Amino acid sequence: MSTDDSKSPRDFISKTVIDCPPSGIREFFDIVSTMPDIISLGVGEPDFTTPWHIREASIQALEHGITGYTGNSGLPQLRKAVSGYLESDYNVSYCPEEEILITVGVSEALDLAVRAIVNPGDEIIYHEPCYVSYRPLIQFSHGVPVAIETKEEDEFRMTAKDLEAAITPKTKAVIMNFPNNPTGGSLRPQDVEELAHVIKKHNLIVITDEIYTELTYDTMHVSIAALEDMKDRTIFLHGFSKALAMTGFRIGYACGPKELIHAMTKIHQYTMLCAPILSQEAAIEALKNPQEDIAEMKAAYHQRRNYFHSAMRDLDIPMFKPGGAFYAFPNISQFGLSSRDFAFRFLEEQKVALVPGTAFGACGEGFVRCSYATSLDDLKEAVKRLKEFTEGLKKSNAVAS
Ligand code: PLP
Repeated sequence: MSTDDSKSPRDFISKTVIDCPPSGIREFFDIVSTMPDIISLGVGEPDFTTPWHIREASIQALEHGITGYTGNSGLPQLRKAVSGYLESDYNVSYCPEEEILITVGVSEALDLAVRAIVNPGDEIIYHEPCYVSYRPLIQFSHGVPVAIETKEEDEFRMTAKDLEAAITPKTKAVIMNFPNNPTGGSLRPQDVEELAHVIKKHNLIVITDEIYTELTYDTMHVSIAALEDMKDRTIFLHGFSKALAMTGFRIGYACGPKELIHAMTKIHQYTMLCAPILSQEAAIEALKNPQEDIAEMKAAYHQRRNYFHSAMRDLDIPMFKPGGAFYAFPNISQFGLSSRDFAFRFLEEQKVALVPGTAFGACGEGFVRCSYATSLDDLKEAVKRLKEFTEGLKKSNAVAS
């Protein structure tokens, strides 16, 4: 009898994958999905439908029988459009033929960027609380994730001082994401300058996830790629999911020095082959006049951001005013519950979903992420229920003490 008979399917899974915990967001939403009539401040995607002319471009392509593969790097016309957009709106110039790769969302671009640069044991710095995929992607590449904590008192900015303190001889790269998911933190131009100075001084490369950059409310977003001598040490990642409400199209792009883009393309060609052609057609249309579509949705997020910020002030729940994206990160530590318990009890008792801060790193304890990519009416109802819930907690805490 073969000894293999004693193996369970789990025995075949790699140690790296077994060691990687499931996403805290998924765990929460598996429960939410079983509950009817929930108000959700949980999801990280726009509540807007993709603008009609963009959808129409995809439909027309389909009608014309445009259903094949594209070249690995993506349609030349799309790469040209990306190049023009970044030149005019981000002040950075990329050659469409050699320095731009069209990917399946920023998700794939992040994976490719990390895999293209990491040798086993290389340290990759990133900041927490952060988007859930950074740490696992580094681990899947056998790199060593090194988290820098961003703090509420710094408005969740990554500071040059904290970055420099985390650098060791093994550090290879830094991943940054501003405006940030989950905190809404953004960087001022001088913060970006200071970070760039440290990155150059220590001869590192930076992967900048710019997926929320159009949704910057109070300051001017400056990309680190646009600063002097930074283009050659930056992998710039962006996409269409958030500001253009195109999450389901799964389309994004990576830009950088041609050697790095070639390395990423090598992985992409053997794994993904190319991004879906209908999504590429839609993206070409999206980049014809993006500012018009973005402005309308951005104005709605801006209004909701202002509403939610003043509502939290009225409820005496400390919350820094998020500078971008569509997330707020209120501090709920005064209520004596862990983030997880707070979120689960609020869900059970008031039928409102928000995400425990710890889903984005251990330092998210004491916070919850609220997405305001939801209607103002739902947001107002959620605030009403939050008032009831937190007043109840305050009363029971007062009785207990
Ligand atoms: N980066 C950040 C910071 C995100 O919040 C998300 C999605 O929530 C992604 C990347 C993934 O984006 P895409 O839909 O382009 O794969």
